[in-house]
Amino acid sequence: MPIDATQPYDDANIFARILRGEIPAKRVYEDAFALAFHDIAPQAPVHVLVIPKGAYVSWDDFSARAPDAEIAGFVRAVGHVAREHGLVEPGYRLLANVGGHGGQEVPHLHVHLFGGVPLGPMLSR
Ligand code: AMP
Repeated sequence: MPIDATQPYDDANIFARILRGEIPAKRVYEDAFALAFHDIAPQAPVHVLVIPKGAYVSWDDFSARAPDAEIAGFVRAVGHVAREHGLVEPGYRLLANVGGHGGQEVPHLHVHLFGGVPLGPMLSR
């Protein structure tokens, strides 16, 4: 069920629990600003989620409220993870679902990083 991206941050969401180490995740990268881990239901040979460590519901919330250092740190972490997975030369896709029409289900900002095969059209037709 997609979330309402204008809702307040819910500390009990599943990615907050992963950040706190309360539930396991296949972590692939972590720094001061971001954590990256494998999606539990991968939709491509490489399907990694990158999340900021701060409490932000969505891309909208993050872009409106996050300090510049957190935005820069998060964006750099996404690029780092893509490079570390050898995705730059073959190419890859980033996706951030926001709210109802975006189909966002977890109310903590996450960027999906897809790669490993040609990914086809940008949206299903
Ligand atoms: P979205 O629809 O953009 O909110 O995507 C949420 C993503 O989180 C989906 O691709 C799920 O498969 C993934 N997901 C949900 N729970 C977990 C979990 N515990 N560990 C890793 N990925 C998860």
